[in-house]
Amino acid sequence: MEYGIKNYMEDIIHDKMNAVLKSMPDICQCEKCRLDMLAFALNNSPPKYVVTAKGKLYTKVSSLEGQFNVDLVRIITDAVTRVGQKPRHNEEE
Ligand SMILES: [Zn+2]
Repeated sequence: MEYGIKNYMEDIIHDKMNAVLKSMPDICQCEKCRLDMLAFALNNSPPKYVVTAKGKLYTKVSSLEGQFNVDLVRIITDAVTRVGQKPRHNEEE
């Protein structure tokens, strides 16, 4: 069996960000902006590493209710708002 580790927050934030973006249709949602938002939100949230076995679905982390969830939505909304106010999708390398 091959094992690895993964920051589970990437999946959680990705999912929740889609929901937040749906409620904010005026904000640019091009790939660059979405990735900027994802990076911003991930940098502002505690990582949650899980051990994964290759080829197997990992067990979903269950501690996602209550205050944790509220904090996360706040972090994501903040990331979406900041990137939306100052999009960087036209910057050249
Ligand atoms: Zn954009």
